[in-house]
Amino acid sequence: MSFNKFELTDEITYLKGVGPRRAAALQKIGIETFYDFLTHYPRGYEDERTLNAIGDLIVGEVASVVGHLSNITSRDTRKGITVINALLGDDFDYVQLTWFNQKYLLKTLKNGMKLFVKGKVAESYSSGNLLSIQVYSYDVLDEDEDPQLGIFPIYASTGNLNQKFFRTAMRNLLSRMPAMPEVLPTEVIAQYDLIALDAAMRTIHFPPSRAELEWARRRLAFDELFLIQCGLLMIKKQTQDEQLGIKHKPNGELMSAALGALPFALTDDQQSVLSEITSDMESDRPMRRLIQGDVGSGKTAVAMLALVKTVENGCQGVLMAPTEILATQHYEKFSAMLEPLGLRIGLLTAKVTRTKKNRETTYEKISNGEFDIVIGTHALIEEGVRFKRLGLVVTDEQHRFGVTQRAVLEQKSEFRPDMLVMTATPIPRTMTLTVYGDLDVSQIKKLPPGRKPITTTVKRTVSWRKVYEFVMDELDRGRQAYVVCPLIEPSESERLEGVRSAEEVFDELSRGIFATVDCGLLHGRMKSGEKDEIMEKFRAGEVRLLVSTTVIEVGVDVPNASVMVIEHADRFGLATLHQLRGRVGRGSDAAYCILISDTKNDVGLERLKIMETTSDGFRLAEEDLKLRGPGQFFGEAQHGLPDLKIADVFRDLGLLTEAREAAEKFMSDEKNLARNTRLSQKLSIAYGNKFVTMQNA
Ligand code: ADP
Ligand code: MG
Repeated sequence: MSFNKFELTDEITYLKGVGPRRAAALQKIGIETFYDFLTHYPRGYEDERTLNAIGDLIVGEVASVVGHLSNITSRDTRKGITVINALLGDDFDYVQLTWFNQKYLLKTLKNGMKLFVKGKVAESYSSGNLLSIQVYSYDVLDEDEDPQLGIFPIYASTGNLNQKFFRTAMRNLLSRMPAMPEVLPTEVIAQYDLIALDAAMRTIHFPPSRAELEWARRRLAFDELFLIQCGLLMIKKQTQDEQLGIKHKPNGELMSAALGALPFALTDDQQSVLSEITSDMESDRPMRRLIQGDVGSGKTAVAMLALVKTVENGCQGVLMAPTEILATQHYEKFSAMLEPLGLRIGLLTAKVTRTKKNRETTYEKISNGEFDIVIGTHALIEEGVRFKRLGLVVTDEQHRFGVTQRAVLEQKSEFRPDMLVMTATPIPRTMTLTVYGDLDVSQIKKLPPGRKPITTTVKRTVSWRKVYEFVMDELDRGRQAYVVCPLIEPSESERLEGVRSAEEVFDELSRGIFATVDCGLLHGRMKSGEKDEIMEKFRAGEVRLLVSTTVIEVGVDVPNASVMVIEHADRFGLATLHQLRGRVGRGSDAAYCILISDTKNDVGLERLKIMETTSDGFRLAEEDLKLRGPGQFFGEAQHGLPDLKIADVFRDLGLLTEAREAAEKFMSDEKNLARNTRLSQKLSIAYGNKFVTMQNA
């Protein structure tokens, strides 16, 4: 072990203050080396540049105060919570301090101690007219010591590693670290006005000011986005350079038969996407295409035709869906439509492979070509699955599969199959670059004709009874209904705000208004077998009213469901609400979506009102971005964007465009990468596996 040499790849145990136990805790959050630690960027900052006088505290605000401790007491509540109280006094006033459930502090806290405290100011019920501070953090100070003021990093932590540990260890690391060499080409740094990497690294952890922090963040985010874009461009270029793709023949009789078998004519958008796909498939370059379109816009119909095309060329096609329910649904539709034309459709999901016998026969039918089109879930990428002549891979992803999973499927072919990805997430075009920068993009913008728009209304809780009477009327007419709640179990503070869980809503409805109706409950904590069973019952019409969290799949198709009620609608992003709403209105009947919200916030209400007037997913996504700010764009929905350490594709949209532009210019000349060893090294670390597998494929 040597202390004078410093390598970013050194194990974290070489850092002062990190013994085996802390190293093990760090490993849990993915930190093994100096570099990992260094790029464990703060998840936020504490701005402690001002001290508050105890006499000036304001209820509801977070404050920092210094004073001396007295009157330390502790008690246990009936619920078993330990509450420690103490008084903190400065030269003029007192405030009560409160700690919950930290009994061990009784050993540390001593009357007369000087304390620097940060916490939230509240009214105090127990101590007359004093205010109270619920303590978030505190430091014990020496009598002649002043508190350290400044902007401090807050790190995502684990186990009992506290912020003090992270801050001290990070300062240690930075003080030992020699100047960090540049990775980006000099021209890029100059053109995009970036600060030096070394300065950015140091500033991001200990920023002297907000402005400098922003510059540091911008630099590091740019690096991250630039690297991804270079990687994606490299992948794209490699696939283009390969000559291994299949050259499909022009459309023949089977394709005409399939087009004729559709119970509808393709829309203009579908037509043009199909012709883009057709020409990709007929070229000898492997197709890499994304179809982007709202739920119900007809993506699957187009993908089905592409699959027929590959079968017409003597190949197999495969369609991978994110869940068992969706796979089964696709399977049923495809079978009904294509079996009459002589195509053999197979289904491969976890359920199918559960018994050995079933699994073996299905695997065999796939490998000897008895199935022309195989539809399935993740089960398709299992080791044992072999295809006969895989010509086209379609993934219906709703953002669930990563690049690597797509790649595994592709490798199951002796040549490079064509690839089609479908997504319903309405992300603006520039954003698709980070996720799908290696793909060409087709869009289906208009829904098929004849769709009745879903009548959407925003209601207050006072109308609750009326809303559910309306739902009852729909059920009486033979229809089915969804009720969506934001949470399985609200937190204490959410409960105070009146947020109710899916379970509570279910209890109330199924015992009250809907006592005579078959109701079902569906949420993420249920076992997947149970979930499937409920969903299946709903599909079959045995369950008429389904109360659930957002786990109901985006693509689930129950045409008989005509109404959806969304409780606490303000807690969802518009994009999510839009996708949820897309689950009704799939039949020929009028459909309704009722958004219940008691939000007191004007912006929140205005936002929800937009849902009443538009059904354009892209527009809603943009409104969301405008009104809610980027971070909350998708609410809790899984968006499948790459795991970024510092960049935020929503907030950094402009930066993303710049990084893309810079990467395109840089990658357009092969010599650039050859010259910049540091960058090419980084790229091969980040995307190396992908390149290796691609070369072996
Ligand atoms: P997506 O995959 O985009 O969610 P689907 O392909 O599943 O959309 O289509 C949704 C529904 O619309 C299906 O019931 C499908 O049969 C129907 N559909 C698709 N294309 C058309 C069309 N051109 N005209 C009428 N109905 C269509
Ligand atoms: Mg679909």
